[in-house]
Amino acid sequence: RQAALAAAPIEPGALADGTRIQVLANVGKPGDGPRAVQLGAEGVGLFRTEFLFLDSDDAPSVAKQIADYTELLTHFSGMKVVARVLDAGADKPLAFLTDSDEPNPALGLRGIRVLKSREQVLRDQLTALAAAQAATGAELWVMAPMVAEASESEYFTSLARELGIQVAGSMIEVPSAAILAEQVLQSSDFISIGTNDLTQYTLAADRVLGSVAGFQDPWHPAVLRLIKIAGDAGEATGKSVGVCGEAAADPRLAVVLVGLGVRSLSMAPPAFAEVRAALRRVTLERAREVAAAVLQATSAAAAREIGAELLAAR
Ligand code: PEP
Ligand code: MG
Repeated sequence: RQAALAAAPIEPGALADGTRIQVLANVGKPGDGPRAVQLGAEGVGLFRTEFLFLDSDDAPSVAKQIADYTELLTHFSGMKVVARVLDAGADKPLAFLTDSDEPNPALGLRGIRVLKSREQVLRDQLTALAAAQAATGAELWVMAPMVAEASESEYFTSLARELGIQVAGSMIEVPSAAILAEQVLQSSDFISIGTNDLTQYTLAADRVLGSVAGFQDPWHPAVLRLIKIAGDAGEATGKSVGVCGEAAADPRLAVVLVGLGVRSLSMAPPAFAEVRAALRRVTLERAREVAAAVLQATSAAAAREIGAELLAAR
């Protein structure tokens, strides 16, 4: 009876022609690990580490961080875990890092900018992540949030290497970094596109402001064209390009992203099954055709319609 109840093995993400697309989990706390694995996560594509410390007044000790990170990484031995270093600021203020007096926090000292100005906090975090990797055998990748240009990825990658971490990358969520993705990739082992912030900054619409919520749509052709620049840069350099924003959880948009050059998709685990099913229905050639058509749309709504038409189940 036990055996009969066991879930059927989950096939890894792939297109109809066999092209592998990694399907990864977005997690915010160690307790998210077991459920992600149960639903068939092939690893973690975004560990939002700042979520652990939203209520902390003081910077967490290295020991506390090692314990927290080890608790999560333990579930992913032998698998990739992309840990984002603290993305403090704007919608995720941390008392020990964020200046609450900024008039425009989304455009302020946040993400890698604040960590650069408080380097010991970053050093401690990378030290703790390296220790957690050593303790668990997970394949740790680290990435920097809010990178705007190559000087920041250079800074981050060299610090990660100094502290014993082998794989260091950059988020592409600021339009300047997307436009300059090839430069950013020169000092990054991989890039991961954060479509939530990339949309907010491309459309100049605060992602948490209800009155402009209509602009927060990653189907917008301007956003997709920026993603294409990043996808092309990945193809040119042979380095990994992923998406870890909400866009990856939309099955049709996931196909479009693949057509733009994305090869890993990270999302909330409940979205895995539908996204995997959508990927299995198309070849890479078809995904590229759909992406090319969607890029010609003049609005998010029009792009969505083209996607729905071309990807309607036949
Ligand atoms: C993003 O901006 O798309 C992203 C993945 O990061 P967050 O949503 O945590 O800002
Ligand atoms: Mg972001």
